Amino acid sequence: MSELLKLENISKYYTSGQSVVMGLQNVSLSFSAGEFVAVTGESGSGKSTLAKVIAGILPYESGEMTVEGKPTSHYGQPDWELYRCGRISFISQSYDILPGCSVFKNVVSALVLTGMESARAAEAAEEILNRVDLLGQKNRKAAKLSSGQKQRLSIARALAKPAPILIADEPTGNLDPENSAKIIGLLADAAKERLVIMVTHDFEEVKAHVTRQICIREGVVASDLCLRQECEVAAPMSVDRKENRGLSFYTAWLQMESRPIWSFIMLLFFALTAFAMFVFLGTFVANVDDSFTRLYDTSAFPNGDSRRIVVMRQDGEELLQEDLEVLKGLENVVELERFGLLSDINYYYREDQDYFYHYIPKHDQAGNPTGEIEITITLGEPELFLRTIPYGMDTESFLTGGRLPENMYEVVAHGDESLIGTKMQVLVSDNKKWAPGSYIRLNVTVVGVTDREGNLFFDSQLGRVFMSETELGRLIAPVYSLDFLEDLMIEGDSLEGRFLCSQGIYQEIWTIVWLEQGRDSDISMNQLIREKEFPFCYYEDPDQKIMLKAYGVHNSTYINFIMVEPEVFERITPELFGNEIALTIKDYAYTDRVLQKIYDLGYSAISPYRLGTTKQDPKLAAERLATLKICILAALAVFLLQIVVMRAMFGMEEEEFRLLANLGLRCRMAKRSVLWQILAFTAGGQILAVAVISFCCYLGIERIVFILKYLQPNVIVLFMIIHLATGLLTSLWIQAAVARQVFPSGLQYRDLKMNA
Ligand code: ADP
Ligand code: MG
Repeated sequence: MSELLKLENISKYYTSGQSVVMGLQNVSLSFSAGEFVAVTGESGSGKSTLAKVIAGILPYESGEMTVEGKPTSHYGQPDWELYRCGRISFISQSYDILPGCSVFKNVVSALVLTGMESARAAEAAEEILNRVDLLGQKNRKAAKLSSGQKQRLSIARALAKPAPILIADEPTGNLDPENSAKIIGLLADAAKERLVIMVTHDFEEVKAHVTRQICIREGVVASDLCLRQECEVAAPMSVDRKENRGLSFYTAWLQMESRPIWSFIMLLFFALTAFAMFVFLGTFVANVDDSFTRLYDTSAFPNGDSRRIVVMRQDGEELLQEDLEVLKGLENVVELERFGLLSDINYYYREDQDYFYHYIPKHDQAGNPTGEIEITITLGEPELFLRTIPYGMDTESFLTGGRLPENMYEVVAHGDESLIGTKMQVLVSDNKKWAPGSYIRLNVTVVGVTDREGNLFFDSQLGRVFMSETELGRLIAPVYSLDFLEDLMIEGDSLEGRFLCSQGIYQEIWTIVWLEQGRDSDISMNQLIREKEFPFCYYEDPDQKIMLKAYGVHNSTYINFIMVEPEVFERITPELFGNEIALTIKDYAYTDRVLQKIYDLGYSAISPYRLGTTKQDPKLAAERLATLKICILAALAVFLLQIVVMRAMFGMEEEEFRLLANLGLRCRMAKRSVLWQILAFTAGGQILAVAVISFCCYLGIERIVFILKYLQPNVIVLFMIIHLATGLLTSLWIQAAVARQVFPSGLQYRDLKMNA
């Protein structure tokens, strides 16, 4: 009979703090395959210590244990691991089962962990279950079995592993006599092909089956009796281990499946941390831009609309239609105003709200009131900014009634169809460039209505008018209707080649003519002025120079403003696109994104709002700083919480790792299993968090919507990576803990003893 296992003078001490407790002392024993050994003794005598030393779970301090003739005293951690995997099946008093998995899965997994492929494992599992009388319970959850059945399942799992040494530490401790007998029968069966060592405090129940009884007393072998002949075993069993990469993945899945509630809590927890990181880091990112904490200064850009972006070509040239198409098509761009210049120019149209009439009674020469009324106008607070029909706007979707304007005296208004046909006076004033209180008066008619926000939408011709600066620095506008000019007009029969000008220009012209002609001239001054030709040159092109004659005075108060006939206007201002356009974006939050896209396309662009906010509001600035601090601290807290909770949660699984290790799971695999599980929880948690965030958006929860606006896709990816990194970092810690606690190194223990 070949000797399978030999212990020579084995001693084992437990050191806890300063005290040293003796576990085993100079134990010498030898075992062969086919033996069924009962280890008996009082409680605390050292039975479990012996079983665990033999199982390679506890290292010994002195003596020598030889297995199949090979000494083990020099073994390091990897050697012990291989030993446990290849030589030992261990059954403890508490059932070594995966409670959340089915009975069948419990056995199959034990086989797969020994390296068997799953199809063969399934076949073998049926056979083993049949042997332990559990085939009928195959699909039941292991947790639902009775305690006897659980222990039988635990034995089935141990039997599934073809290891030559099977050690059972009080396997019947929790069972009634009937179930105990069944277990002992199974172990006796197992002893037909291997060495079975069973620790028990009740020798009577095993007496009929065992081949040998070893009695331990205070760590010493008190007696070693041979009771009957052991079985003949032809060749010792061996584990044919094939380690494949899929095994760690399989283990991870098995572990998650075996404790569904634990896994579910972990998943929720990861979703929670992903969501919390999103909220805190997101709020941080949203508050990086400090524009909101500043006061807007209108001196550079009167229009402080935060959604406006002004775009120019880098060479300053006109933006052509193709440029407009590209810019309009950009993501997050809602509207495009072809004449960006207009969006800083104010207009006033509501009497007694935007502008105020002043009625002054007239008197005759004697000072008696004549009842006549003279009118002057004061402009109110600038509030509205000019806008034309947005570029490329689909008429159908823009208008709710009427038609689009065809010239600068027609507008689309916000309101219902009853507005169509309304005539109104619009006063336009460039508060930044013109003298205070000066304006151009436009009498417009509403030709269309829209449900768009904003009050009046002008024809793009208005943009051309404001861009048409002559070389004299004067603005020109076409004359369409002279009704409102009649009072102030100098009479004349034709407008051909003539212009109307404002009072100031008229004065200027008058002075020029007066100086040229001399005081003595007896020709009427009005006559003279009307004969005088003024050259106007546009766009540095001398060929476009045309001569215009002064014709009359219009009633706008802006000094540098002349009016010409429409045909003349068309001639001197060809189709213009302007060299500055204004985009309206969905939300200020998208400013950086849109600006970047525009830069990438090779244009220059600015956010007037951002440039206009220069001075910090101390209260808002302090609030923002506090928010930034809180966000960082909260994100850090989430980070730490995740590490601590994960470590604690995996700490709860130590027993399970131990039982898997008994079945042959190696340390490396266990570590990888931890990694896979954490990766799975991270991915699952992130998906869940995305779902929650989407739902919050659907519900319109303001804070979430606000944060999302500020997060570019690459930032979201960064958040995911940070969340993942937290998991991976913790996984290193957990892996180290699992390795330390579940797979102790023999050398470590020996070092301890040497120090002592
Ligand atoms: P049995 O299994 O026979 O009841 P054990 O082998 O568990 O006994 O214990 C033998 C002796 O070793 C006991 O005195 C016990 O207190 C001690 N012992 C067991 N495990 C440890 C441990 N981890 N640390 C310190 N002492 C231990
Ligand atoms: Mg014990």
